[in-house]
Amino acid sequence: SQSVETRTFQAEVSKLLKIVANALYSEREVFLRELISNAADACDKLRFLALSKPELTVGDPSFAIRLAVDKDAGTLTVADNGVGMTEAELHDNLGTIARSGTAAFVEELSGDSKRDVGLIGQFGVGFYSAFMVADKVEVLTRKAGEDQAWLWTSDGIGEYSVEPAEKAGRGTVITLHLKDDAGEFLEKSRLQQVVRTYSDHIPFPVTFVEADAEGETLNKASALWTRSKSEISEDDYKEFYRHAGHAADEPWLTVHWKAEGRIEYHALLFVPSQRPFDLFHPERRHHVKLYVKRVFITDDAEGLVPSWLRFVKGVIDCEDLPLNVSREMLQRNPVVASVSQAVTKRILGELKKKAESDADAYAEFWKSFGAVLKEGLYGDGLEHREALLSLVRFRSSARDGLVSLADYVARMKDGQEAIYYIAAESEQAAAASPQLEGFQKKGVEVLYMTDPIDEFWVQMLFEGYDGKPLKSITRGGADLKSIKADQADGEPDDASKDEPGADQGAVAALVASVKLALGDAVKDVRTTDRLADSPVCLIADEGDMDMNLERMLRQHKQ
Ligand code: ADP
Ligand code: MG
Repeated sequence: SQSVETRTFQAEVSKLLKIVANALYSEREVFLRELISNAADACDKLRFLALSKPELTVGDPSFAIRLAVDKDAGTLTVADNGVGMTEAELHDNLGTIARSGTAAFVEELSGDSKRDVGLIGQFGVGFYSAFMVADKVEVLTRKAGEDQAWLWTSDGIGEYSVEPAEKAGRGTVITLHLKDDAGEFLEKSRLQQVVRTYSDHIPFPVTFVEADAEGETLNKASALWTRSKSEISEDDYKEFYRHAGHAADEPWLTVHWKAEGRIEYHALLFVPSQRPFDLFHPERRHHVKLYVKRVFITDDAEGLVPSWLRFVKGVIDCEDLPLNVSREMLQRNPVVASVSQAVTKRILGELKKKAESDADAYAEFWKSFGAVLKEGLYGDGLEHREALLSLVRFRSSARDGLVSLADYVARMKDGQEAIYYIAAESEQAAAASPQLEGFQKKGVEVLYMTDPIDEFWVQMLFEGYDGKPLKSITRGGADLKSIKADQADGEPDDASKDEPGADQGAVAALVASVKLALGDAVKDVRTTDRLADSPVCLIADEGDMDMNLERMLRQHKQ
């Protein structure tokens, strides 16, 4: 017979486990939420596979999650009849953390347990949270459609082992050997309380099994998104978000609606309050799960939500798609396209409401996700451009907080025809630019564009905003002459006039000699009204690449 294979955990996992095991985590009851969440995912996955291979669930067609305790042995088991795992999947899933962005996360762990527990709270440790309450964990699992079962065992220190095993039926049984101080989780009433708190929304029954008899179902066991809003509490939504979004933070925004009419669907969507670690990771999956008539189909449906809304999490459940829809079909499916349109509009509308009703909260959102939302301005978001333009925010030379394009336009000077901006590496760099001086002197507001993406969408905005073109003040065309200076600050309006004392001939001679001295290093030398204190600044020619973009590209090449 085959022997036991022992392997060491991936270094990141070991580091996590050390913190998990030693943390005096006041909310350690969440281990049960994590295990039930995984069990429900496993049931969802198998229900989907069984659509095309019904033989996978023959003889045991209804899904359930069962809790049982053995008080003498001090064990709690969490069993599901979901998809199960192969030997290779056991190693991949319970020996490493496959999630992208993990390395960056683990690097942030300091070894200072207080700080690290906070970080882990944000990250979520999933399965490994079992070691908060157990000093030994066994995972007995059999993949649906296979005969061979496998047993994974670990005490959560350094290594784990996997060996062949026997198991009647498909699915996974997780046995927790509870620590001495975790005896509370042997009590039915305690388990019931935890399940009601965290897992009420799980669409499969979670039952407590006693003495061979099928015990009572502890949760509501119906899909949360199909329930009416009035029956759902804030906490229900929050726990659903954590389960469906594999998230550890709180939702910043919750939107739940049912669309009736030409196309019917339920949507329960969330915007996170914290920026996920992998937001800019290329292989990051979409986090909106697609269901068809309550059956989970995929969490990676291309085209369901545009990539510039990839921070949105939750569930869309369509009534008008066939259950046997394939991933390839989804991409070009007109129902998916209509739902996507409607959902996108709705989310942008909700963001706008929030921006108008609570500017401070919106600023938090903007800090986390603004750069992603702006991708819609040059990508496939053409039909949503107007909505997106009402949502973008900037730092500016005139205000401390965030500024919208509408704010800017409302403050434009007499004679000002363009929206002026400066692209720079940072807000500080923008504020210190000599090109800004003349604008500030005249009280003309300049928007700071500090996200790399700004360079791209601004150039694509040919029609401008509200009929006004966006102009970079580090390019040739930004001309201040037509704008009246700010009289309010009492400064005389002299900067825009040709100074009578200035000898035009001497200026021309100066320009010529500077040109001669600089030679090929510059394209041209000219006088400007955009400077106030500095004698000279660099600008890009009208038709050329803006300076900040050039700087970025140069950095990239190195
Ligand atoms: P996450 O659920 O966010 O992926 P977890 O640490 O909770 O992270 O789980 C890691 C992986 O282990 C899951 O993605 C899944 O593939 C696998 N897994 C965990 N529990 C089960 C289970 N009960 N049945 C099948 N697979 C499971
Ligand atoms: Mg999980």
